Parts: sequence; C-alpha cells; structure tokens
Amino acid sequence: MKGPDYTMRWFGERPWALLCRDCPRVPTPVGAACLHCGEPIVAGDDGVVQLCIMHGRRPEWRPAHDECNLRAAIGGLAHIEGRCMCCGGTDPPDPPGMTRREAARAAVRAYRQREAAAVFAAALEREERA
Ligand SMILES: [Zn+2]
Ligand SMILES: [Zn+2]
Repeated sequence: MKGPDYTMRWFGERPWALLCRDCPRVPTPVGAACLHCGEPIVAGDDGVVQLCIMHGRRPEWRPAHDECNLRAAIGGLAHIEGRCMCCGGTDPPDPPGMTRREAARAAVRAYRQREAAAVFAAALEREERA
C-alpha cells in the first residue's frame, strides 16, 4: 500500500477520486494555467496541484485538471484503443484537431468505458460460474 503522497494536493467542490482521501485539499487555483493543457482553471473545476521538480529550477506547485492529470497517466485516446505508435499502430496518441483538454476528456471517457466493460465482463463470468 502506498502512503499519503504529500507532493500532491487536490481541489474541487467535493472529493472526486480516491486520491482526495489521501492528499490534503487546497482552494481551487482559479486563473492558474493547467500544467498539461495550458487552459486556465475555473471555479467548479476538479483537479490536482502537484509539486513539479524540473532540472535546474526551484520546485514549483502547478495545477492540473483532473482529466489532464489522468491523461498523463493513462495515455491518449489512440493508445487506450491500442492503435498509437507505441502500440505498433500509426496514429498519434491524441486525436488531431482536438485541443489538449478535449483530447484528455476523450481519453478519460474511453478509459472509463473500457474499465466499466471489464467490470461487467468479470461480473458476467462470475455469474456463469455460479
Ligand atoms: Zn488541463
Ligand atoms: Zn500506445
């Protein structure tokens, strides 16, 4: 089990993920640019604030949208669908023509659908075995 990660904070109106249980909450950093997509954080957004350590620079607290933070961990839409370059396909990880935030939302949606389908398939299997 991983202990509390105090290089991470969360913001939002209510807890939106397990990490909200493990990390301290901070006020929503309205107006600050998201680390990943560059769009400003607005009131009502869910997200995290992370301590970013970049070579040769002082550590900095940077906010990111929930979906952009997840996208950084799970990969882009094409990667989730197994057709990006790292998966032996030819597609760029994020769909061309989408903003980085739109691409992050699309990736998270596909990831959650895939997860839900896997949970459903496992439940069916259990039922069949019963
Ligand atoms: Zn973002
Ligand atoms: Zn891939």
